[in-house]
Amino acid sequence: MQVTRTSPVVQLDGRAFRRSLNKTGRYVRKPMDDAESLALMEEHGVGYSSTGLVARMRANGNLWQEGVKLAKAYGYCWGVERAVQMAYEARKQYPNSKLHVTNEIIHNPAVNQRLKEMEVNIIEDVGKGKDFSGIKGEDVVILPAFGASWQEMKMLSDKGVQIVDTTCPWVAKVWSAVDNQARKQHTSIIHGKYSHEETIATASFATTYLIVRDIPETQYVVDYILNGGDREEFLAKFSNAMSEGFDPDRDLLRIGLANQTTMLRDETLTIGKMLEKTMMQKYGPAELKDHYMVLDTICDATQERQDAVTELVQKQSDPAERVDFMLVVGGFNSSNTSHLQEIPEMAGVPSFWVNSAACVDVEHNKITHKLAHGELVETQPWLRDGPITVGVTSGASTPDRAVEEVLDKLFRIKDPSFSGIAQLSMEAALTPPSRPEH
Ligand code: SF4
Repeated sequence: MQVTRTSPVVQLDGRAFRRSLNKTGRYVRKPMDDAESLALMEEHGVGYSSTGLVARMRANGNLWQEGVKLAKAYGYCWGVERAVQMAYEARKQYPNSKLHVTNEIIHNPAVNQRLKEMEVNIIEDVGKGKDFSGIKGEDVVILPAFGASWQEMKMLSDKGVQIVDTTCPWVAKVWSAVDNQARKQHTSIIHGKYSHEETIATASFATTYLIVRDIPETQYVVDYILNGGDREEFLAKFSNAMSEGFDPDRDLLRIGLANQTTMLRDETLTIGKMLEKTMMQKYGPAELKDHYMVLDTICDATQERQDAVTELVQKQSDPAERVDFMLVVGGFNSSNTSHLQEIPEMAGVPSFWVNSAACVDVEHNKITHKLAHGELVETQPWLRDGPITVGVTSGASTPDRAVEEVLDKLFRIKDPSFSGIAQLSMEAALTPPSRPEH
């Protein structure tokens, strides 16, 4: 069956546009692997830790004595480390140029602060949109790990600036998926958060799109596809999450799935199955390929971190394996960190999400932490007396140093004589002779 759709939106050839940037001679999208920049990152505490506490734990089977268990996969993902490295390399390569980033380079306050100290101007939307007026043609502009919309890229290219594009290749793979969907006149159903920078960038490369946040929203869409519904209600519900001129009666005939790379993988897979089943039910197996497109664009790094937390909290009935609580370190605006917080919460294991060591008050044994649904709360007293076992993880945009600084404070609450992470005698405080149930 031939399906036609007349969309009011002008089609963008995203791939051709990105290729055109390459030809300008003012566009870089690969790191140089400069050893000095990597060393400086570690010195600044925004790179890989080769000698600190986290490095020691790695060398000791991810354990600090018995009392602290580091998740098997945690912290910086490949794409984030690469982005910070490219920013450091750009600073070194253009020492006399003004440097800007079109957003936070990654969602970590310490890393962004370091860049500010290196005179990198971070252009943030503080409620009135971003102000690019200060960027001049001779400047260097860095695009963050989660990318930038094509409109921003075009505006920067038209200004004649040098662009350093740190967009993670996994994110670019999603853009290719929505390019394909647009070319085949399919609407991109994007599993993501409509205000997240990565999803904003991905949506910009789609001709027609609808953003669904979760399974209930997908169910609403599925019901509409199968049974029709209240069009005005649909438009109001997704008013911030759809392309201009979106019409649910016209634009849901052919669809494809895309995702924000930091969403829960299982949720993305479930949403994909729901959409596929719906189109199969509506059009039959023979017509399915004309109505539904899917490409595997799920990032392994996000999944590995989620699996590692699941592993840490799933054996609570085994005294040898249980943890008293999870400590989750990562930026409060980091989507992937929020999912790491969600997993223990859903498993009934206490979980404390902090964005830096400043959240821990050693003197008063108090912690300020964020819950998965966004509320910032204080817990006091935080650590009980006696031996405890702590599971530790960190978001994909969190440098090792941030974890080390939080653990340092935890150790000092347990042992006021603790004099820093170089001290190796925490055994008494943190090693339980036998683990009490609690
Ligand atoms: S989480 Fe995955 S997609 Fe996102 S920056 Fe890291 S490696 Fe890339």
